[in-house]
Amino acid sequence: MAKYVYDFIEGDRSRADLLGGKGANLAEMTRLGLPVPPGFTVTTEACRAYLADDRPPVGLFDEVNAHLREVEARLDRRLGDPHDPLLLAVRSGGRYSMPGMMETILDIGLNDTTVAGLAAQSGDPRFAWDSYRRLIQMFGRTVYGVPAEEFERELAAVRAAAGPAGPDAAQLRALVETYKKVFAAQVGHDFPQAPHEQLYLAIRAVFESWNAERAVLYRRQEHIPGDLGTAVTVMAMVFGNLGPDSGTGVAFTRDPATGQPGVYGDYLADAQGEDVVAGVRNTVALPELERIDPTSYRRLTEIMATLERHYRDLCDVEFTVERGRLWMLQTRVGKRTPAAAFVIAAQLVDEGLITLDEALHRVTGAQLAQLMFPAFDLAAAPAPLVTGVGASPGAAVGTVVFDSVAAAAATGPVILVRPETNPDDLPGMIAAQGVLTSRGGKTSHAAVVARGMGRTCVCGADALRIDAERGEFTVGDRVVRTGDLISIDGTTGRVYPGRVPMQPSPVARYLAGEVTPEGDRLVAAVDRLLSHADAVRRLGVRANADTPEDARRARGLGAAGIGLCRTEHMFLGTRRELVERLILAEDPAERDAALDALLPLQRADFVGILAAMDGLPVTIRLLDPPLHEFLPPLHELTARVARAEALGENPGHDATLLAAVRRMHETNPMLGLRGVRLGLVVPGLFAMQVRAVAEATAQRARDGGDPRPEIMVPLVGDVRELAAVRAEAEAVLAGVPGIPPIPVGTMIETPRAALTAGEIAAEAHFFSFGTNDLTQTTWAFSRDDVEGSFFGTYLERGVFGVSPFETVDAKGVGRLVRLAVAEGRVTRPELTVGVCGEHGGDPDSIGFFADAGLDYVSCSPYRVPIARLAAGQATT
Ligand code: ADP
Ligand code: MG
Ligand code: MG
Repeated sequence: MAKYVYDFIEGDRSRADLLGGKGANLAEMTRLGLPVPPGFTVTTEACRAYLADDRPPVGLFDEVNAHLREVEARLDRRLGDPHDPLLLAVRSGGRYSMPGMMETILDIGLNDTTVAGLAAQSGDPRFAWDSYRRLIQMFGRTVYGVPAEEFERELAAVRAAAGPAGPDAAQLRALVETYKKVFAAQVGHDFPQAPHEQLYLAIRAVFESWNAERAVLYRRQEHIPGDLGTAVTVMAMVFGNLGPDSGTGVAFTRDPATGQPGVYGDYLADAQGEDVVAGVRNTVALPELERIDPTSYRRLTEIMATLERHYRDLCDVEFTVERGRLWMLQTRVGKRTPAAAFVIAAQLVDEGLITLDEALHRVTGAQLAQLMFPAFDLAAAPAPLVTGVGASPGAAVGTVVFDSVAAAAATGPVILVRPETNPDDLPGMIAAQGVLTSRGGKTSHAAVVARGMGRTCVCGADALRIDAERGEFTVGDRVVRTGDLISIDGTTGRVYPGRVPMQPSPVARYLAGEVTPEGDRLVAAVDRLLSHADAVRRLGVRANADTPEDARRARGLGAAGIGLCRTEHMFLGTRRELVERLILAEDPAERDAALDALLPLQRADFVGILAAMDGLPVTIRLLDPPLHEFLPPLHELTARVARAEALGENPGHDATLLAAVRRMHETNPMLGLRGVRLGLVVPGLFAMQVRAVAEATAQRARDGGDPRPEIMVPLVGDVRELAAVRAEAEAVLAGVPGIPPIPVGTMIETPRAALTAGEIAAEAHFFSFGTNDLTQTTWAFSRDDVEGSFFGTYLERGVFGVSPFETVDAKGVGRLVRLAVAEGRVTRPELTVGVCGEHGGDPDSIGFFADAGLDYVSCSPYRVPIARLAAGQATT
């Protein structure tokens, strides 16, 4: 039969899966000989069985009783003993800490009889009656869902009547009678008097609190699996509410906000744990305890030092002092701010507690990302106008604009405000400081694109009523118009009126090479860990950059080249017209004229980028998107033509465009005429781009530079596609004198390309996995369509724990990646292999790519430091 219950002396911290973090760490403290009240833990396995069958597993309560008897023997006190009752705390705690999300019930074992025993033993009837009323309230709420107000109301009345000294024993005794009536009225039967029944009911209630709404929500937010279940820890009560020489508190072994060493925490005299959280009375800073009770304070600081040395990390603790005697009720490796995480990791290295390799694993890429964003000075911020979803961190201030054209045309900083965004908004999003939408969540177009660009974004602020026609939005009765200043915080999702003052991030300034790490504890810690990551990592880090400015920035942030230079962004803006001419060309001469006009522009783009990345590889991708993306949208043209016709005017050029758009219309443009297919179908297009690369290279070489371009063909599915483009490219390259050899490679972004990678490698100097498209085509997910529709349900139902567009799906997509790497390298052992999808900047995916043997990842410039860190973590 399964063992469902472990005494504290049987467990240890390695058993957190089974005993939950709280139970495992209480066991660990018990083993360390620290003062922990005796107790035992019911396993998460029992909880899973309970939740699956809707009843306790067979034998569970017998096992509980056996362990309870041991606790009773150890303390020489019995549950339900009328003269000297043992009281119990029944506490929740799963594998991952979910602070305050599940239930805990204190003072189990009190009833009409034992309350007198407790009063006699403690010599404090007031305390005994107060404990009893606490039990009825907590039990009613937790086990039977009685709203807290039902009790709070009565408590408030008694408190009001009692005056400043608080209610006396008689008043509390009367309150217990009232509470019992409230309980019976709400629940339909009397408060259960049998202590063992109380215990069993409490254990069941804790099991069930695993599925409480807020717990479910918290798990989703924190990516904690929903099927782990909680353990239940049952332990003897100790009392911090037995007078001025008792109390309760929480403490940290270092400052969890800054990482500063020292003892931090709060203490509340004459109180039980819940009072601290409830904020009934004001707590005092922990050092006060030294004055109140120097012995307990000294013991506590000793214990905290022991815990830090033992766990080799920042710990937090919950403790209670009962009449001058210190008891430890909880410890765990404590949560901390991103800044504290870096500072503490570096300090622990200095203190000889951990190695630099270990220190790398004490921080995360997400924490580094947060440290790079400038932040609002919250002390100076007004009340927010509205709060949405913090979708792309950062703090942005600008004037409000409602469309992308206005954003792109603006001279000063703007915030683009849209109900939602679509690919047409890209120029506006690029131009804006920040993006604010009223619809969509963290995986909406706005959110994904903004994160990719490092643009601040708040989305899903559904209290916003946007009237773009009138150029205003309203929140309740407040109106914000085009040109008004607003400030948006992409971390918290808050939107403020006016300009909130900003604090630049010292970490970002350091990463950009603007300041040295000396003199700033945090920056020095970041420098130390990142330098170590660079020293140990085998995975290269390049950036996705389309402009010289981005390229320079990426290089400053540590990118060793460009892994993806998209050429489509170079066809936007004023050049759209040339692309239109290309599309509308009726004969080869017109087409060539359009291409000839584009050539010098492209060449100039490449010269700038190659200069910014001098001496480093620059992978230039030939045009990828369907050409009709460069024409105005169908609905817009239809409207323009209709309007002209209604006015009796000649729609002229618009009619020609409309005909072209209709002709080129595709039902599934993502699977239509794009990528390498354009190269085969539109004569001269790729040749022009290759020529621009070659001539730019020649020019850079003439100017004494060290240009290292690579030409990359998108969306290949068959080696013959690549062979055709490569032959055309090499013919062009051969005709341009004075250039170094320019490799021609391919993206691997269709399952067929991955499956035939061995063949394709014969024609490719390098591979670059386009994991966005590979994810779309492997799953048959259209990203723009699925994220906003059923992904929420999929995440909720656990089809996946995280969107496969956020973290690469190692099992499916990843299998294709591994296969392509292996078979490609059989054909061409020196094949360079990288990845340039959004996954290239995702720390979890980077771990996978390192393991799959890739040479480099490429990500947006802002994520380069994060990728460097993750690559270091992947090696150690
Ligand atoms: P959470 O996980 O929400 O922090 P806990 O199980 O830690 O919940 O319980 C909340 C509070 O109850 C603790 O902070 C502590 O003050 C109090 N408590 C828990 N166990 C005991 C105990 N054995 N004796 C006295 N108080 C306790
Ligand atoms: Mg706790
Ligand atoms: Mg692609």
